[in-house]
Amino acid sequence: MYSKQMAITFDDSIQMVDLQTQYYRLKEEINAAIQEVLNSHAYINGPQVATFAHHFAEYLNVPHVIPCANGTDAIQIALMALNIQAGDEVIVPAFNYVAAAEAPALLGMTPVLVDVNPNTFNIDPQKIEHAISRRTKAIIAVHLFGQSCEMEPILRIAEKYNLSVIEDNAQSVGAVYTFPSGEAKKTGTIGHVGTTSFFPSKPLACYGDGGALMTSGEELSERIRMIANHGQEVKYHHKYIGCNSRLDTLQAAILNVKLKYISDFTKIRIKVAKQYNEEFKYLPYIIPPYKSSFSTHVYHQYTIQVKGKKRNELQSYLKQKGIPSMVYYPVPMDRQEAFRMHARKTDNLTVARQLSESVLSLPIHSEMRDEMQDYIIEHVKRFFKITG
Ligand SMILES: *Cc1c(COP(=O)(O)O)cnc(C)c1O
Repeated sequence: MYSKQMAITFDDSIQMVDLQTQYYRLKEEINAAIQEVLNSHAYINGPQVATFAHHFAEYLNVPHVIPCANGTDAIQIALMALNIQAGDEVIVPAFNYVAAAEAPALLGMTPVLVDVNPNTFNIDPQKIEHAISRRTKAIIAVHLFGQSCEMEPILRIAEKYNLSVIEDNAQSVGAVYTFPSGEAKKTGTIGHVGTTSFFPSKPLACYGDGGALMTSGEELSERIRMIANHGQEVKYHHKYIGCNSRLDTLQAAILNVKLKYISDFTKIRIKVAKQYNEEFKYLPYIIPPYKSSFSTHVYHQYTIQVKGKKRNELQSYLKQKGIPSMVYYPVPMDRQEAFRMHARKTDNLTVARQLSESVLSLPIHSEMRDEMQDYIIEHVKRFFKITG
């Protein structure tokens, strides 16, 4: 059992994510896993890759996991495998990391930006239908910060208009969505294809780049597998135009260790989030993260909204006190220079803009110690006492 009490800290400064302390706690297991790969020198497609895919599929309860090189490739491969073409439109949230808009744009598709729900920060299902045109082929539902999009209405709209649903689960591995019927599924296994990233700071992470795709479709899983490997059916026989996107054996070996602890890491982050919630609930200038009734929250980020235009001021105050914080994300997709010409928007995306001006993510990770969190909470409170 991985618990907060056995923490060994090598660096006393507060960090957004403490990867170093986590490594030292798992050092023996991780080093042994790496050594095993070095001994076998099966650097590409060693047995650890298949083992990881198998265990991750079991963890998610999904028939097929196909590892790839990173979470952005995973979205690109999903679009290619679903046979979406240049000129087609793909619906994506306006308040987001760049990948869900970038991958379709790179393939000559048009990302269509839809506004998000002001509570969950996830795509607003009520605004999707209005954005659909004759060219729309897919919706990318991004489960931001650790909780699920509202999937039931998204799936219903997708079925009505014959659209594919891709779930970008890079930030929410382990979250569970409950349908109105009571049926519960892990995020990433609900739409046609799920994608994820194992970038070092993500909920399930390796020590470099990594990613994966998830699907229940047998045929689709075969297409994904081929497209991630140069479109090869058999070596040197290319059925599709694909790409070269693999998970390194070394990274798979690391993931095999980390997957064992994912529930422990998640539990600690939930505990940290609850503590913040408890302390912030009476502060009039802060809106703590909202947890919807239809999803669990794995708190990849603990993102507050700061009212009264005080976000930047709070961030600099915390910085002076040695407390890092991050603005995820400062610029909505429609205001990104790269997407001005390449994205379509269907309304003025006011929620996305408001969030980009008010959100602030505070440190949260599996190594957070009580005294560190107390220090952070104390200074957030002090800031509002000073500035009123
Ligand atoms: C990190 C992230 C990605 C991209 O993952 P990479 O592995 O860095 O390519 C995609 N979508 C979301 C929501 C992410 O947070």
